[in-house]
Amino acid sequence: MEEKDKHKHKISVERKGLYYIGMAILITGFILFFSVFFIGMNEDPFSGDSGMGSMKNGFIGFILIGLGGFIMNIGARGAAGSGLILDPEKAREDLNPYTAAAGGMINDALQEVDILKPKPGEKDVVKVRCLSCRELNDEDARFCKNCGKEI
Ligand SMILES: [Zn+2]
Repeated sequence: MEEKDKHKHKISVERKGLYYIGMAILITGFILFFSVFFIGMNEDPFSGDSGMGSMKNGFIGFILIGLGGFIMNIGARGAAGSGLILDPEKAREDLNPYTAAAGGMINDALQEVDILKPKPGEKDVVKVRCLSCRELNDEDARFCKNCGKEI
């Protein structure tokens, strides 16, 4: 019992760790990316090599921002939630709140369709038009419900 709880807790700790690792990479990427602008200001824009170097830093920073964001996403939503399915057991666990939400949405949609659909029973009822007043009556009606004449 306690072992199971521990295991369950371990997953969330892993994800939390992943989230913070992603955040660290993201921040590093930001520093690297924006350092290009600060370094760039102090540099002669026409000096070839160092300019290329800062451009490279900016590019690496850009990649790190994307990578960090990706890792943070996995940490926050789980591997399956971010489209990375590694473990079917874990994936089901990860997707559970999402599928539940999706199921709710589908149910809502079906209910909406139900309103538009004719109610069961009503669909197959054949109506008979009264010859005198053109009122629609049920197939088994002997007298018109509007004018009372025999159908
Ligand atoms: Zn009638």
